[in-house]
Amino acid sequence: MNDVILRARGVRKRFGATEVLKGIDLDVRSGEVLCVIGPSGSGKSTLLRCFNHLEQIDAGRVWMDGELIGYEQHGPSGHVLRERRPRDIRRQRERIGMVFQRFHLFPHRTAVQNVMEGPVAVKGLSRVQAEKQARELLDHVGLADRADHYPGQLSGGQQQRVAIARALAMEPALMLFDEPTSALDPELVGEVLGVMRDLARSGMTMVVVTHEMGFAREVADRVLFMDQGAVVEAGTPELLFTDPRHERTRAFLSTVL
Ligand code: ADP
Ligand code: MG
Repeated sequence: MNDVILRARGVRKRFGATEVLKGIDLDVRSGEVLCVIGPSGSGKSTLLRCFNHLEQIDAGRVWMDGELIGYEQHGPSGHVLRERRPRDIRRQRERIGMVFQRFHLFPHRTAVQNVMEGPVAVKGLSRVQAEKQARELLDHVGLADRADHYPGQLSGGQQQRVAIARALAMEPALMLFDEPTSALDPELVGEVLGVMRDLARSGMTMVVVTHEMGFAREVADRVLFMDQGAVVEAGTPELLFTDPRHERTRAFLSTVL
C-alpha cells in the first residue's frame, strides 16, 4: 500500500447549532483517486474546506504528509487554543490544489496569466519560467490555442480547464475537486472529466466530490458515501455501486443512477 498522504480522524465541524461534520475518519493514499458522493447538505464541501484551511475544525485532527493541518480548537476542559502561523498555513495550502464548482478566474487576465499568477507570486518563479510552465499546462488540458484568451472569451468547460491548470501550476501533492462539473452545461462536462481522468492516470492523488457516477465508477479507486455529516460507507466502486451495505447508500444511489 502507498503512503497515506492525507489523514483525518474524528473531524467535527459545526455552524451554529448544526453539526455539519460528525466525526469523519478518512485516509487518502498517495496516487489514489477517492470520489466522495452524497446528498446535498451532507457536508462534502465543508470536509474539503477543512483540508485546505478554508474552515477550522472544532474537534479531531487532520494531517497532510504527517504534519497536522487542522486540530481541535477547544476541548471540554478548555484546551489551549493554538493557531497556525500564517506562514505555515500558506506553506500547507501550497501542497493542496483546489478546484471549485465556480472557476474564480481573474477576469482581466488571460488564461496563461491566470495560470502563471500563483507560481510567480507564491513560489517566486521568474515570469519567463512561469509562462513556459503555464503554456505547457494549458497544452496538457487541451487549451494551447486559448492561452491568450480572457476568461470571458472561453466556455465554462474551458474556464474550468484553466482553473485545473492553475491549480496544477503550484505542483500540489493533492488535488481537491468540489463538484467541478456541476455548473457546466451538459455538453461541456465531458471535456473537464476527460482532463481529470488523464490527471488520475498520471498518478495524481485526488479527492473528487462529484455527482458524476460514471466518472466515479470508472476512475475512482475508492468511493465514499457521506450522509448527514458522517461517512456511511466506503469501498471500491464495484462494491459500493453494485452491492452497497447500507440502506441509506442504496436509497441515494437509486436517486442518481
Ligand atoms: P454538501 O457540499 O454536501 O452539499 P456542505 O458542506 O456545503 O454540504 O454543507 C453542509 C451543511 O452545512 C449544510 O446544511 C449547509 O447549509 C451548512 N453550511 C455550510 N457552510 C456553512 C456556513 N459557512 N455557515 C453556516 N452553515 C453552513
Ligand atoms: Mg457542496
